[in-house]
Amino acid sequence: MYFIKESQRMTCSHCHADISTRVISEPNTNTHLIALVLFLVGCCCCAAWPYCMDFCLVHKHYCPACNTFLGESKN
Ligand SMILES: [Zn+2]
Repeated sequence: MYFIKESQRMTCSHCHADISTRVISEPNTNTHLIALVLFLVGCCCCAAWPYCMDFCLVHKHYCPACNTFLGESKN
């Protein structure tokens, strides 16, 4: 199953309902690494920008009916 960045229709593997996934964007390990590097090179004011950048975040898909984690998009 390939996950995109937006909500997508699928059948929940847990409750087998026909649902549109609920997407939550979260920082991943790379996001923290980029922020740390920016901080270390003196860009304190830039250190927060990876958390605002879509491509630095992972998009996690949850079932709105049973809240099961279904998968995440790959950057
Ligand atoms: Zn479900």
